[in-house]
Amino acid sequence: MALVVKKFGGTSVADLERIAAVAERVKRSVDAGDRVAVVASAMAGETDRLVGLCRAAAAGDGDPAEMCEYDSVVAAGEQISTGLLALTLQRLGVPARSWTGWQVPVRTLGHHGSARVDTIDPAALLASIDAGVVPVVAGFQGVDANGRIATLGRGGSDTSAVALAAALGADRCDIYTDVDGVFTTDPRIVAKARKLDRISFEEMLEMASQGAKVLQTRSVAMAMQHGVRLQVLSSFNDRPGTLVVPEGDIMEQEVVSGLAYSLNESRISVMHAPDRPGVVAAIFSPLSQAGINVDMIVQTSAKVGEVANVTFTVPETDLDRAVSLLEAARDEIGYKDLIADRGVVKISAIGLGMKSHSGVAETMFKTLSERAINVDVISTSEIKLSVLIKADYLELALRALHAAYGLDAKEEPYGGS
Ligand code: ADP
Ligand code: ASP
Ligand code: MG
Repeated sequence: MALVVKKFGGTSVADLERIAAVAERVKRSVDAGDRVAVVASAMAGETDRLVGLCRAAAAGDGDPAEMCEYDSVVAAGEQISTGLLALTLQRLGVPARSWTGWQVPVRTLGHHGSARVDTIDPAALLASIDAGVVPVVAGFQGVDANGRIATLGRGGSDTSAVALAAALGADRCDIYTDVDGVFTTDPRIVAKARKLDRISFEEMLEMASQGAKVLQTRSVAMAMQHGVRLQVLSSFNDRPGTLVVPEGDIMEQEVVSGLAYSLNESRISVMHAPDRPGVVAAIFSPLSQAGINVDMIVQTSAKVGEVANVTFTVPETDLDRAVSLLEAARDEIGYKDLIADRGVVKISAIGLGMKSHSGVAETMFKTLSERAINVDVISTSEIKLSVLIKADYLELALRALHAAYGLDAKEEPYGGS
């Protein structure tokens, strides 16, 4: 008898009809003899609604007391969906009960709003499964050392599911969502995106961290670390999904396996700064002290040894804070102008084969230049090449690059976008 964790995302539990379909799916698995634990997200749109209410109610300075209450409010969405799913399972004759994070308990560390899972005590859930009662666990939430509800960051139910699978020693963790699996890129933007039967943990980690929201980045890292067998599939049909597997299980590595994009980007250019040692440190120190993550960086010298321009990206959600910090440090840094731009997007090509093949950058720059798309900033890692472009060109660039890297499917899985 396999022990399986099944996680259902927001669109999979969007209304009572969808919840009934999910309950039927869980029932089929239980009837087939599986030992099942369920993790559910909030009903689609609910977390956004709750975040909006918090923003309207709060002063908005994000201090710890404020974030504690934020977590208490936004975690409520999962309490409702898990309760409704447990009720529906009971109606279908499947014994079930709902669990909030603190009831399990899922213990967390770190900041409210982006807490990390520390430990999960699996005893009560295992006892429930052994007694034939399906536990339906609220994703996205846990409890901190002070007994306060903490949430794991947007998309965090994926991480809840993987953490639970690791703690329960589950044979598999199935992530049910609204597309058939992991695609070569977001199938909602590129109609010719192709579903991957398998993807390596390394590539999936890079895809997720570069913006492919189909799995939360930390869920992939955790599955990799704990050897959780992870599968992404649709809750809307019975087609096979995508298995996330160790690198060694993939016989032939694609040079580019997929493209990701991130909209949460903004660009800052510090113009006409003195070109001398210590200036770059003076720009980035206040940002790092404030916990602002700087991603892509490029420095150019207008006149060698005299003035330099430093351009870099920060998450759009941190742009206002970053600009205020740099304005406060203007005299110390000694720059003339500061330019901030929200209208940018980052596109990344990802593939294990990049380690040993060249030409990925050439194809990227040639394809974009043929469409007159300007590249603002570039960054690379061993298995990734990222470019920052104007947000207006996102769809055009993604489709063109998808074709140029030979990723296009013959048929469009969702019949056009
Ligand atoms: P859930 O609510 O089930 O957690 P999400 O909205 O978080 O679902 O993630 C699924 C969405 O991820 C898809 O609807 C799709 O638009 C998007 N997505 C982005 N990149 C990819 C990709 N490479 N493969 C599949 N889906 C992707
Ligand atoms: N409901 C949370 C969110 O919308 C967690 C999740 O869906 O994974 O971010
Ligand atoms: Mg999600």
